Amino acid sequence: MASKGSVTFSVAIPVYNEVESLPELYPRICAVMDDLGESWELILIDDGSSDGSTNIIRSLAADDERVQPVFFARNFGHQIAITAGLDHSRGQAVVIMDADLQDPPEVIIDLVAKWREGYEVVYAVREEREGETRFKKLTAALFYRLINRIADVNIPIDTGDFRLLDRVVVDTLNRMRERHRFPRGMAAWVGFHQVGVPYQRAERFAGETKYPLRKMIRLAINAVTGFSYFPLQIAIYFGFICASVSALAIPIVIALRLAGSQAFLGQATTLIAVLFLGGVQLISIGILGEYVGRIYDEAKGRPLYIVRDAPDANDIKLKK
Ligand code: UDP
Ligand code: MG
Repeated sequence: MASKGSVTFSVAIPVYNEVESLPELYPRICAVMDDLGESWELILIDDGSSDGSTNIIRSLAADDERVQPVFFARNFGHQIAITAGLDHSRGQAVVIMDADLQDPPEVIIDLVAKWREGYEVVYAVREEREGETRFKKLTAALFYRLINRIADVNIPIDTGDFRLLDRVVVDTLNRMRERHRFPRGMAAWVGFHQVGVPYQRAERFAGETKYPLRKMIRLAINAVTGFSYFPLQIAIYFGFICASVSALAIPIVIALRLAGSQAFLGQATTLIAVLFLGGVQLISIGILGEYVGRIYDEAKGRPLYIVRDAPDANDIKLKK
């Protein structure tokens, strides 16, 4: 997409209201990338920030032509911003990481070392999670185990989106334009030679998490529906269980009544059965709705994101 030639490394970073982290992030990225001794670019995707991050990105891009900014027209979310980063990258290897310095830039050295050994996907595995609540650690642990149980892909445990992707993988991912995205699942799905590198996940440098529980649940639902029909199949299993239990129960109840028993008289029994099955049916319809909604979104075929502008570094220089 960019007009200039190719570079060896791209670092793609989604930025949403990271005004405090950016001035610290940029020099640390520069130090690490310069050490590698090859050409590189830094893609900063401004995901509709409203706190002044946009201006910082503009001035970074104006002063350093290796900084390639992409400005979204509004907030489209982390996963979509990663997609835009991959779309705009030109590197032979592309590193995806967060802006809040929870993914230490120094780990890129280890990722690149594995890439040079020939691995096409090098994902960073969290060894320790500093400064994260027990709730987040617990839900994350449960989530990874659940998704690997039911999904059609094997997503390595304790990995986030911090990873290095070879150009072949990036080109493959760029062809997958699904709307409700779970990038780490997609990267696992494509295959190729993959390897993990352990690292210590740091505390957020400044500001607050941009992932409230609501967004985490959305992401988890995207992960499950994107890679598995299991929720749809639950209804079938449940239907079979209910049907078999009633098939057994009906003759028993008839026999008891003929024998004069009062055991199953009364409204409560009826109500419980109706409400229980009603609940199960509503949940099943809801699950169907999740999948149908996704089909609807795909059918509309809207672009994944709208870019306000993605100036080439040279354009910015001219304007300045
Ligand atoms: N982010 C984004 N759009 C959003 C939310 C987050 O681009 O709508 C970026 C954010 O700026 C950061 C990364 O995604 O670079 C991860 O977000 P965060 O650190 O808040 O998530 P956490 O580490 O708490 O899971
Ligand atoms: Mg973070």
